[in-house]
Amino acid sequence: MRFKILGHNDMFTYGSENLTLIEFDEIGKTLAIEAPYHINKHIENIDAVLFTHIDTDHVGGLETFLFRKYFDPNLTRPALIAKDSAMYEFTKTVELTMLRERSCHSSQTHGVIALDTYADCYETCWWKDTKVKEIPGLTIRQPRKQNEHGAMTTSAFLVEFNGETILGYSGDTVFDTMLIEELFGMEGLTYPVIHEAGTVYPDHVCHTSILELVGLPKWMRDRLYINHIPKMFEEWINMWINNCDMHHVKELEYYEHQ
Ligand SMILES: [Zn+2]
Repeated sequence: MRFKILGHNDMFTYGSENLTLIEFDEIGKTLAIEAPYHINKHIENIDAVLFTHIDTDHVGGLETFLFRKYFDPNLTRPALIAKDSAMYEFTKTVELTMLRERSCHSSQTHGVIALDTYADCYETCWWKDTKVKEIPGLTIRQPRKQNEHGAMTTSAFLVEFNGETILGYSGDTVFDTMLIEELFGMEGLTYPVIHEAGTVYPDHVCHTSILELVGLPKWMRDRLYINHIPKMFEEWINMWINNCDMHHVKELEYYEHQ
């Protein structure tokens, strides 16, 4: 399988393209992680969307994506995957728009209008694995450690394919050593971990800083890929990345999983 990182900036960067695609070539399926607006450039090929939280740079294109998938007969019904509380927040945000849209396009004038009209919804939680039937072999695991993004729910995930962990992913989580341990697992494992580095200095209420990540042990830094770097900090953060054996997600565009 192949990872494609199609962008990495944060919500304050014009044209933020914070999107990762995992292409499971052997079964012809694709998982998108996050859904900024430009996810719609890739809509035909995406079978499932995993999102971490409902900020614009993470779900700004999701409503359009779901509508297009629903109303275009040439497009397939997608899976939508998120932590239970993040899914609830997204539902509350979009339900009025969906209600209006649904009533315009259907003779149905009553009944429950729900997000699962548009997608098969999978709510993840730390005590059970989530198997996604739209991508056979795909399992999403959510670390036990909970995370908040300011007042909002966010999450980190472990992505498994055919029983093997292939990726750890953190979307806008505050630095937390327990979470980091869960994402990396044991020393000797080889799967990459993509972690946001949304700020420079520690003690941020919404993000992990590059200074916290450079302090991780080398065996973790060797597997660590940084994304979600604000444009204004990019040069500064790249200097740290280059000095600390870490990787920028731009280098992951053609990452081939062994
Ligand atoms: Zn963000």
